[in-house]
Amino acid sequence: MRYVSTRGSAPELGFSDVLLAGLATDGGLYVPTEYPTLPELPTGRYADLAHAVMSPYIGDEIASDDLLRMCVDAYATFRHPATVPLVQIDTDEWLMELFHGPTLAFKDVALQLVGRMFDHVLARRGERIMIVGATSGDTGSAAIDGVKACGNVDIVILYPEGRVSDVQRKQMTTVDAPNVHTVALAGTFDDCQDLVKAMFNDASFRAELNLSAVNSINWARVMAQVVYYVAAVDALGGQPVTFSVPTGNFGNVLAGWIAREMGASVDELIVGSNTNDILTRFFASRAMTATGVVPTLSPSMDIQVSSNFERLLFEMNARDGGATAEQMNRFRQSGRMDVEPDQYARWIEPVFRAARCDDADTLATMADVYRTTGMQIDPHTAVGVSAARQCAPHGSPVVTLATAHPAKFPDAVERATGRRPELPEHLADLFERPERTTPLPNDLATVQAFVRSVSRH
Ligand SMILES: *Cc1c(COP(=O)(O)O)cnc(C)c1O
Repeated sequence: MRYVSTRGSAPELGFSDVLLAGLATDGGLYVPTEYPTLPELPTGRYADLAHAVMSPYIGDEIASDDLLRMCVDAYATFRHPATVPLVQIDTDEWLMELFHGPTLAFKDVALQLVGRMFDHVLARRGERIMIVGATSGDTGSAAIDGVKACGNVDIVILYPEGRVSDVQRKQMTTVDAPNVHTVALAGTFDDCQDLVKAMFNDASFRAELNLSAVNSINWARVMAQVVYYVAAVDALGGQPVTFSVPTGNFGNVLAGWIAREMGASVDELIVGSNTNDILTRFFASRAMTATGVVPTLSPSMDIQVSSNFERLLFEMNARDGGATAEQMNRFRQSGRMDVEPDQYARWIEPVFRAARCDDADTLATMADVYRTTGMQIDPHTAVGVSAARQCAPHGSPVVTLATAHPAKFPDAVERATGRRPELPEHLADLFERPERTTPLPNDLATVQAFVRSVSRH
């Protein structure tokens, strides 16, 4: 399997290079030259299903045995025997719980595997990398946990001091591994992101430390997420299933679209947004218009632009990378992008629905699910449930992806249900564990010196 960039001018690469590169050199995102049809599905463990679904994308770049071992190890970290269990919440309405991994958010499903793939490929090549990233919460802890056992990867995560929740901070700062480092930056999340960008733009620093990222545009993360859509359809007996997906960067719902392209029995995909509703507005108007970001109860969906949408746009442009690059450039300059009615009719209309859910709806949905089922759901999942109910598909079962454990957002859950959710057993002592972090000023030279000092390159 080969991969091409959505902007058409970066070199074609194989899976391992795409894994390590993340973003393409022309600023585009890598996609496979074609979406393969689903292979014959094995019965049994989730890891076996993951191995079967992902194999066509990896080809012989990772030996089949090695891939299976990585899948088994990655999903052994999940504290549920079904890895991603389905739970029924109403007639024809289900949750797929993607939060049984080490950091209680769905990002573990991809990052537990991708961390292992990084280490495997790097070991083969005799290389090491330094991952630097900025986080406002979930991504940092999932990335850290995914690479904490990797001999060939160091990681430094910057977070804004005092602006991430206690649970989120503790999940990052209590990891005791020699390759894991966190920085409590005196600044905002945007300051953290700006520093990371500046480090990547410093070509000699980047080369010296072999800098890398594991952000959500990495193809391997999207690929790993295709698997649970296939698992859900399979578990519900193969009938057409609609999915409702609490959406930020569009990575998760794009994986559902890919599962559908591969032939999985996916009916419709419902894109749930919070008040940061660029996607809802796009699906209603055919125009993508960027506005400012406002904070909500579902912070992991507080985005301005959904970066993974570019992969769908590339398909809408009949895989014309030049046209996609032009469109993205115009969008960056003007903050607006329009798609043609025929593109919309061909690609969006038959598959996607979209709905918006503000904080009041989010709380009301959490309260309603608690009242009717006794289950507590987190605010991101609540956006998905609300979107599913607003779009009310006709007859087919709807699976909402439950993207975070309620205990990850205890304040919002307590506000909606009157009861504070408890951390699962493996994290029950989180607040007693010693923290290790480095407070630093918002200064590029100081942060670069720190990153250099902890690199084992
Ligand atoms: C990251 C995240 C999302 C958004 O997923 P995308 O792939 O960016 O659309 C939703 N919910 C939670 C809990 C997350 O951590």
